[in-house]
Amino acid sequence: MGQKHNNNRRDFLKTAGLIAGSAFLSTGTKGCAKTNNRRGFSVGKTMNLKFTPYELQLKHAFTLASGSRTTTPVMLTEIEYDGVIGYGEASMPPYLGESHETVRKFLSKVELNRFKDPFLTEDILDYINAIAPGNYAAKASIDIALHDLLGKLMEEPWYRIWGFNPDDTPDTSFTIGIDKPDVVKEKTLEAAPYSILKVKMGRDNDREMINSVRSVTNKSLCVDVNQGWKDRGEALEMIHWLKEKGIVFVEQPMPKSMVEDIAWLTQNSPLPIIADEALQTVDDIKNVFGVYSGVNIKLMKCGGMRAARQMALAAKGLGMKVMFGCMTETSCAVTAAAQLSPMADWADLDGNLLITNDVFDGLKIVEGRIVLPDRPGIGVLEK
Ligand code: MG
Repeated sequence: MGQKHNNNRRDFLKTAGLIAGSAFLSTGTKGCAKTNNRRGFSVGKTMNLKFTPYELQLKHAFTLASGSRTTTPVMLTEIEYDGVIGYGEASMPPYLGESHETVRKFLSKVELNRFKDPFLTEDILDYINAIAPGNYAAKASIDIALHDLLGKLMEEPWYRIWGFNPDDTPDTSFTIGIDKPDVVKEKTLEAAPYSILKVKMGRDNDREMINSVRSVTNKSLCVDVNQGWKDRGEALEMIHWLKEKGIVFVEQPMPKSMVEDIAWLTQNSPLPIIADEALQTVDDIKNVFGVYSGVNIKLMKCGGMRAARQMALAAKGLGMKVMFGCMTETSCAVTAAAQLSPMADWADLDGNLLITNDVFDGLKIVEGRIVLPDRPGIGVLEK
């Protein structure tokens, strides 16, 4: 939990010098004129990290090719600096290997008090990355809270800081999990506010899933196979059938290890093939280039907003399609990802819509499209 740390003498002298040197610029933390680009916040204070485990309750049991569940553990983080609080979140779906325990262990090692200026983002996040390998959700929870804090100190939302037009946000897809035809039809009808649906496939009822959805809607559909298909010939045949059914793209059709088969499938497929499980961080972009048509970038996979933006820029530079996705998350992490969404071809930012106990207000979906909150930082408010 958040700890106040006493400065040693050297830090105190350094801090005192910084405060004295900038005293004429800064008199308080809030309420400064918008034209003052120093915003009046003080350098030299301590960042305090706090984290709280939380359990998300899913509206429907979530069934993928790999299994089924009704809850998702998350860790809610806060970084406080000079009275301003940045919010972050780690979401830990079990198949990624992180848990309340691993995230707690990681966050307990974080010593933000070694940094006296929260704007040293590169230094701070490089330090976080170096604490231990992996732990991407834990790292994302720090990255998101730090971005939220900085945006609040600058009094601007991140889409503005990055220069994105909020009118360029895409529609978000809404996920329909694998289930029996009646339940699938009911979920499809419940998804009336959304203009594009993502249908989960990869078990033994693929055509039944699509036919059930199609029996009640003519909306755009995409499919996520979650590595469920094992034979590339059968996969290609299915993709041709899906094209006739009006599907827009196919996500992770085969196991990520079947690289050559997937490259062949992408070359021959009439629909774009998107990598999800096949990539994690920016280092993986070079591995999926030439194998897939595009990438599904998620903050919990790559470690946060900084890494997600790096990945999107790298993928776009190579001519690949970019999509931002999420896990089941509160509006905190989903709205953080949405700040990047104006640069995406597609968005699958529905994680907050799949739970019954969200603790934040953030992005809104209006006529299927993502609407970013006009608030500083990542733009969320605690409910
Ligand atoms: Mg996926």
